[in-house]
Amino acid sequence: MQIDPDRCTGHGRCYSLAPDVFDSDDSGYGFVRMPEVPESLREHAMLAVQNCPEQAISIVDD
Ligand code: SF4
Repeated sequence: MQIDPDRCTGHGRCYSLAPDVFDSDDSGYGFVRMPEVPESLREHAMLAVQNCPEQAISIVDD
């Protein structure tokens, strides 16, 4: 899971929908706190991906 900092405008949907996976920096921009998402959190992470207004979140598989 990764966030493109050039696209993120800080709406905060990612860390609201999946707070275990994403968090906000001091300015309200999202960052990934759990790059490798376990199966149990996958559904929440996917919700965040789908609801990011800037489509800034992408899934990176190893
Ligand atoms: S939802 Fe998208 S634009 Fe908003 S903080 Fe998260 S990554 Fe950034």
